[in-house]
Amino acid sequence: MLVDKYGFAHISTGDMLREVAKVDETIKLKLENGEFISDDIVFGLLRNRLLSDDCKKGFILDGFPRNVNQAVEYEQLIKELNIDSNIVIFLDVNKDIACKRIGGRISCPKCHRVYNEMISESMPKISGICDDCGVSLIKRSDDNVSTFGKRYDEYLKNTSPLISFYEEKGILHRVDSSMDKVCVFKVIEDIIDAFGK
Ligand SMILES: [Zn+2]
Repeated sequence: MLVDKYGFAHISTGDMLREVAKVDETIKLKLENGEFISDDIVFGLLRNRLLSDDCKKGFILDGFPRNVNQAVEYEQLIKELNIDSNIVIFLDVNKDIACKRIGGRISCPKCHRVYNEMISESMPKISGICDDCGVSLIKRSDDNVSTFGKRYDEYLKNTSPLISFYEEKGILHRVDSSMDKVCVFKVIEDIIDAFGK
């Protein structure tokens, strides 16, 4: 929705790694085993991505940074690339809702659009098929209720410290993300529009 409205590039480091995994056996195995991918690899991909033309109007980093170390290194990277101001949006949901959203998540392998087979407003028009591309939707191997607990603990341990990290910098916006997507989007639009003024 942000891409459509503002023309931002959508950058998902997870999607970038899954693309690379198609041609890189080492990364493929690491992803499959849920192993840590080194920051060198992630930052190498990200740097190239940020230099592409479609990022000139702005970009959204989705699923990144994952921990405070990455956030610090990211600040150095954008300084070096002369990218300034940024907004951090914290999509705040409780554990139950997060589990439901992840459990039903399916996505398009071609355009990476995300759907949810358990939430009516986020279902594709035809079950299992991308509305935009007409190709079959896939479920990520790590999107299931049994790995959810592990990923949530990982989030609490490594990612949640980013909330205070960005709060102290005064750039964090907490958005109650338990609402439906239209309401959440409205709140985010207001944040971005106020920022541009
Ligand atoms: Zn698609």
